[in-house]
Amino acid sequence: MFQRFFPDLPALSAFLLRLPMVTCPRCHHVGALKRHGFIRGYVSPDETGSRAWRVYCNPKRGGCGHAPSIRLSSSLYHRCIPTAVLWAFLNAWVDKASLREAWEDAGEPLSIDCARRILRRIRSALSSLRITLSARAPPPPESKGARNPSVQTLLHLRSVFGTEDPIRAYQADVQSPFPLR
Ligand SMILES: [Zn+2]
Repeated sequence: MFQRFFPDLPALSAFLLRLPMVTCPRCHHVGALKRHGFIRGYVSPDETGSRAWRVYCNPKRGGCGHAPSIRLSSSLYHRCIPTAVLWAFLNAWVDKASLREAWEDAGEPLSIDCARRILRRIRSALSSLRITLSARAPPPPESKGARNPSVQTLLHLRSVFGTEDPIRAYQADVQSPFPLR
């Protein structure tokens, strides 16, 4: 399988060095992949940097032109906050009923609108999240009494991937982005 999420920068750099031996995830050609620059953007609310690294399946070497991106497991698609900050907010929201309180509690500098959007995205991705989580372990008993389906699923996420940055663990294990689109 083509690895998209990496635990740290040395692992990601080692993968980039191995590219000539990596199989393209689309056309399965070996020997056509090469580096293709960065995707720059906010890595935290007030700092820009490399959010992802693009790879290119070079048609001049028999490739298909596909340009997948790879990134650290702690980096989210479509969001400039790292997984740990997102989890601090979601974890507080699981324990408190108030979105505003959870947002303030998490020390999150982004807007309350952004928090609402994130919860909405999670709500619309619940069924795919549940399928992924249930393939690893059944929902924990405490999730039965949860106040809504999103809290239920976040408790499930916490029981499968632990309390220490479970969204990072999710991306590292599932090798696909935590659904926020
Ligand atoms: Zn290809």
